[in-house]
Amino acid sequence: MAVPPLIITVAAVGAELTRDEQPGLPITPEELATDAAECAEAGASIYHLHVRDEAGAPTMDVDTFRAAKEAIESSADVIVQFTSGGAVSDEEDARVAPLDLRPEMASLTTGTVNFGDGVFWNPPELIERLYRTMRSVNVLPEFEIFEPGMIATAERLCAASGDDHHRHFDFVLGVPGAMPAWDDAVDFLAAHVPKGASWGATGVGRSHLAVTKAAIAGGGHVRTGLEDVRYFAAGELVSSNAQLIRRVAEMGREMQREIATPSQARALLGL
Ligand code: ZN
Repeated sequence: MAVPPLIITVAAVGAELTRDEQPGLPITPEELATDAAECAEAGASIYHLHVRDEAGAPTMDVDTFRAAKEAIESSADVIVQFTSGGAVSDEEDARVAPLDLRPEMASLTTGTVNFGDGVFWNPPELIERLYRTMRSVNVLPEFEIFEPGMIATAERLCAASGDDHHRHFDFVLGVPGAMPAWDDAVDFLAAHVPKGASWGATGVGRSHLAVTKAAIAGGGHVRTGLEDVRYFAAGELVSSNAQLIRRVAEMGREMQREIATPSQARALLGL
């Protein structure tokens, strides 16, 4: 099978970083619009979105998501992918509500996992509720995989629903409490996604470049952005999401991967 063009996702905001720690963190709709345009220009085709309130704290507020989504979509041709995880402290109803806005995609973590000092709480009932809600409004889930068992849970979920949509997985490696970015982690997980599925990977923090390389080499896709990476090099803060996208796009081209346009990404993902 031919190697597909490389889909680059930008995880631009996340729920952890503050603006004090990272001056380049986009928060307002205007900043998100500018950031999305720069990232799209640099080769990103999916914009993974968390939003912040006026004080910069993570929120699952629907109006804040609406304003952000409209701003991004008016400035850039990117697939907007909402988080459904939010911050580890978010209540269940709040995590479901933004799906009413029908983003093209949403992330869905199919298991509970320790996350630093917190617990990223995803009991079976909530996973099912998020999944059913997504599919009822034609949102494609991106299964966010922090541990191998989450792949099996995603497959059980799809099989039980009988919904034959395209399966897309993203491996998030190196979160303290979850699966480390071991040298063979990307290849191992990729070997266990179902036939016909697509997958991407990201490593948080120091493991980022090694995971990126393994994903590109293995025919997968990649995610980068301030949610996952704080330092561009030792002691040097990332200046912007676009800086990270440019580096990953360059790596992709060096490794003989064409960079997917948004329309190629949509075709690959069955959107
Ligand atoms: Zn996220």
